[in-house]
Amino acid sequence: MGPSTHAADITDLLQRIALDIAALPDEGAVAEYIPALARVAPRQFGIAVATVDGAVHRAGDADRAFSIQSISKLFALALALQREGEALWQRVGREPSGTPFNSLVLLERERGIPRNPFVNAGALVITDVLCRRYLQPERAVLEFIHRLLGRVGVGIDADVARSERQHSDRNAAIAHFMRSFGNLGSEVSALLDAYCAQCAIAMSCAELAQAALFLAADGEQPSHGRVLAAADARRLNALMLTCGAYDAAGDFAFRIGLPTKTGVGGGILAVVPGRMTLCAWSPRLDATGNSIAAAAAIERFTAETGVSIFR
Ligand code: GLN
Repeated sequence: MGPSTHAADITDLLQRIALDIAALPDEGAVAEYIPALARVAPRQFGIAVATVDGAVHRAGDADRAFSIQSISKLFALALALQREGEALWQRVGREPSGTPFNSLVLLERERGIPRNPFVNAGALVITDVLCRRYLQPERAVLEFIHRLLGRVGVGIDADVARSERQHSDRNAAIAHFMRSFGNLGSEVSALLDAYCAQCAIAMSCAELAQAALFLAADGEQPSHGRVLAAADARRLNALMLTCGAYDAAGDFAFRIGLPTKTGVGGGILAVVPGRMTLCAWSPRLDATGNSIAAAAAIERFTAETGVSIFR
């Protein structure tokens, strides 16, 4: 690895990336299907790197909380894996879908078994698993994040949760459809309450990078302890690489070369196994629902440092 991954160089690089991103033309649009997200100021950008030795580097709006949306699926899955173990994989697959995150098309042919835990259908199955074990699954995910960070303070944005819940016909359709195949036990309305609240967790780039460090550290959260078996952490990274950016996962692997998880709030979390986690955020999205500027920033970081899982 080049000298550019030394601490001072990382901070310097993040600052240069933030300047370059600010100069990019405005492309894409904020998520509009969730009205509360449509009101977010589009020209924001933050980036943070957390290294396994405990250092955190920041630039731009790295400490501003945003709606983590589908990045929450990563924490929900890790918690469900902790509680449910292998049995989980009987209800959800491990293949990229090649379809948008909120698509229904494969579900009929595949009899209500979602392709992977990161498309909405798969994440709803994970929420169903958590609904059976917790009275308030979204609180369980939030408290899991508090444990990972070693502090409380991260919360759920009630406005965003309400706004998505009021516009959740598509997720309701997905849930009812899976229920018709027997792959969902919860009552759909309670399931959607929990899912929308979990997606509305608000965190900053610095907090997301720190909370996800166990994925870069063989399942062990520095300063906290074991979160997942090392093998499960590797599997989660594999799922992020193949499914974390939905039907852009191939393009992300090509451009970035790291496991990533994106959300329609504009956040992208990336893992450099053994070394660090990286989170960038900017609200404008492309047609696949992934942040244009955050992807460009992470691509730039990997190009300059040479970090990749393929080297
Ligand atoms: N809450 C969003 C939804 O279900 C999450 C989607 C995303 O971030 N890709 O539509």
